[in-house]
Amino acid sequence: MAKKWVYMFTEGNATMRELLGGKGANLAEMSNIGLPVPQGFTITTEACTQYYEDGRRINDEIMGQAMEGVKKMEELNGKKFGDLKNPLLVSVRSGARASMPGMMDTILNLGLNDEVVAAMIAGNPDPKFERFVYDSYRRFIQMFSDVVMEVGKKYFEQLIDKMKEEKGVKFDVELTAADLKELASQFKAEYKNQLGQDFPSDPVEQLKLAIEAVFRSWDNPRANVYRRDNDIPYSWGTAVNVMPMVFGNLNDNSGTGVAFTRDPATGEKKLMGEFLTNAQGEDVVAGVRTPMPITQMAEKFPEAYEQFLKVCDTLEGHYHDMQDMEFTVENGKLYMLQCRNGKRTAQAALKIACDLVDEGMKTEQEAVAMIDPRNLDTLLHPQFDTKELKKNTPIGKGLGASPGAACGKIVFTADDAVEWAKRGEKVILVRLETSPEDITGMKSSEGILTVRGGMTSHAAVVARGMGECCVSGCGDINMDEENKKFTLHGKEFHEGDFLSIDGTTGNIYDGVIPTVDAQIAGEFGRIMEWADKYRKLAVRTNADTPQDAKKARELGAQGIGLCRTEHMFFDPERIEAFREMICSDTAEEREEALEKIEPYQEADFKALFEAMEGDPVTIRFLDPPLHEFVPTTEEEIAKLAKAKNKSVEQIKAIITSLHEFNPMMGHRGCRLTVTYPEIAVMQTKAVIRAAIAVQKAHADWKVVPEIMIPLVGEVKEFKFVKKSVVETADAEIKAAGVELKYEVGTMIEIPRAALTADEIAAEADFFCFGTNDLTQMTFGFSRDDAGKFLDAYYDTKIYEQDPFAKLDQKGVGKLMKMSLELGKPVNPKLHCGICGEHGGDPQSVEFCHEIGLDYVSCSPFRVPVARLAAAQAAIAESRQ
Ligand code: PEP
Ligand code: MG
Repeated sequence: MAKKWVYMFTEGNATMRELLGGKGANLAEMSNIGLPVPQGFTITTEACTQYYEDGRRINDEIMGQAMEGVKKMEELNGKKFGDLKNPLLVSVRSGARASMPGMMDTILNLGLNDEVVAAMIAGNPDPKFERFVYDSYRRFIQMFSDVVMEVGKKYFEQLIDKMKEEKGVKFDVELTAADLKELASQFKAEYKNQLGQDFPSDPVEQLKLAIEAVFRSWDNPRANVYRRDNDIPYSWGTAVNVMPMVFGNLNDNSGTGVAFTRDPATGEKKLMGEFLTNAQGEDVVAGVRTPMPITQMAEKFPEAYEQFLKVCDTLEGHYHDMQDMEFTVENGKLYMLQCRNGKRTAQAALKIACDLVDEGMKTEQEAVAMIDPRNLDTLLHPQFDTKELKKNTPIGKGLGASPGAACGKIVFTADDAVEWAKRGEKVILVRLETSPEDITGMKSSEGILTVRGGMTSHAAVVARGMGECCVSGCGDINMDEENKKFTLHGKEFHEGDFLSIDGTTGNIYDGVIPTVDAQIAGEFGRIMEWADKYRKLAVRTNADTPQDAKKARELGAQGIGLCRTEHMFFDPERIEAFREMICSDTAEEREEALEKIEPYQEADFKALFEAMEGDPVTIRFLDPPLHEFVPTTEEEIAKLAKAKNKSVEQIKAIITSLHEFNPMMGHRGCRLTVTYPEIAVMQTKAVIRAAIAVQKAHADWKVVPEIMIPLVGEVKEFKFVKKSVVETADAEIKAAGVELKYEVGTMIEIPRAALTADEIAAEADFFCFGTNDLTQMTFGFSRDDAGKFLDAYYDTKIYEQDPFAKLDQKGVGKLMKMSLELGKPVNPKLHCGICGEHGGDPQSVEFCHEIGLDYVSCSPFRVPVARLAAAQAAIAESRQ
């Protein structure tokens, strides 16, 4: 039997998201629970995969089943595709497994051609109906040309603007039937002009091309960027939904809208949304006209509004989550076109999760599981300094579309945003409205300000998703995009001028207002408490300074998993002593320099132990390639020569000798200690003296320093360094006449260490996976250079993610698992963690949970993310 590629809405349900995509599965579910959904069908995500396997073409079997779907749809709706008496018009919309708002393509009013248009008009003498038909026709030609044939939208927009100017009107709705008729014919001429062929009039051909376009859109650049940002695998594919059109642009008794059952910005339990009368869906989202708040729908369409309120309750009760819905009212009658769990800000996500627990709709575990850990980042985003803010008065106001504060120089195009950001400028992207092509520019900006569009406009939705500050719909701005300037309440702003915007209040300020870190409170604490209750992985932080350690502690770190001691030497005063150490010729000279460094190290370590209040602190011994520290200017070289009592030439000769062809694989890590054991001796003294002092001052803490040896690849290497650490530490402890436990462990960051982990485990107290180096050395990709060529890997889909950001579970992960399997039986007390960048990435944290690590360690601001991800991993496991 042939594979089933097409499902009528009545054949699916909400659990079939993988096959039908989110939109298709929810349309089916809404149909099943009796909500008013125009009855159509879904072409599966598997058909999308097949389309790519077949060399980007829809095979006859899939198209055949789609046409059977059309037939059933015709019967269900009592209309016929391409018919001149009772024509069926359809929408064709993408719908992936995970929602990707605005990323892929939609075509509305498909099935229209000159004959159908003429027949429709002939069948209804109402002049308003004629206007509606031409409005639909010109929209179809425009969308089809743009989405399916990739003729730029701008050509059509220019024609509309010209027409509006000629007619002396401001809005599309003011154009008459004759104007729209004329526009439709201009559009077709433009199509021919651009493509050299006539606009396709056969509805079946239109449908096939549209389905292909949706499948193709899965691979468009903006979808690829979105997928990478949101961890959506390319292999999932998108489904295509074909459903009968209902017309919000039929007349003034019709309209269309988008709504959320709770406020997606704050989480407050109240219906939030916007709608437009006499319009089609894209008008609301694209911000062509500024829509009205949903509450006004009560006056316009009281019956449909009442019904809609009931639908909202039904959907929330059914999905137990905040819903984002699209609907249309046609001649006073309500139709549901889409529902999904709504995208929301981090604050809203936390509030909604807590409220749902309080309302008895979710358990604590479910509440923890429903929050996207990456979203928490936005909570930690800057706000304006309140004192500074008080000194400023807003010069304008738009909608607070995505919270956080931002300050930067004005740019007017997405490309400029990217370019300016590349050269280190902070920018605010100011646009009439944004469109999906702007996504990279939006990402490069500190914040986004738009003239048009509401809370559900592209700019608002995308900015919220990215956790970026956005003020939308500031209609008071008089924009001149072409000349890169605008005026707002009498003041002219140019490219490069400073602007500050507040995405919470919508306020816009002239000039610079400094921003400060966010304060976390309220529901955040509650969710984190639940997360801590259910997680098994401990979460530590990577911190090299007491300030970082304190911040991480506030954010819930349970210790330090990595202190990179080399980072403690970049201070100008210290680097000189360090340079003296490197540029020594003899051990004595080196020891003399190390003597100068030791007190700095001891003080630093004390502060770290203090900050962690008895929780574990892992101190990683010196790791960098030495050349990173050598002086570069003549002045610095001369200064060093003087301090070392050497000639400038001698110092230069030492610097030259330190040059390496491949520093990342060169003289660093434990190799430094093998060559210069006195470095490890000094560091051990500093660690142990600091620990003794802090333990003395805080008898109730248990200070157990963990000394970590980097870049070990051979057990004898580890034993060599460990020997001098243990001798030094024991001598210090003995001399102080105290008792102090300490541990000596290693990083596992060289494949050979993973392969021989059983030998190393016999000697080490702990393993900590340095997945930055382990990734570098497993892939053979230089961590410093991979950025240059990884884009080509994404484009060719060889890799979908940066392996330095997302742990490569297949390869690098296998080495980690192997290390545990080899190491743990040899040393059952061995404790294991990760401190590479992956320790703060949710998916990688989940993997760390699965393979049984004891802790993850990440940068301070990632600590809450890791806590939540660890809890989600434990909760998911307990459900299996
Ligand atoms: C690592 O390699 O993963 C690591 C944490 O060490 P560094 O980044 O300092 O090399
Ligand atoms: Mg490393």
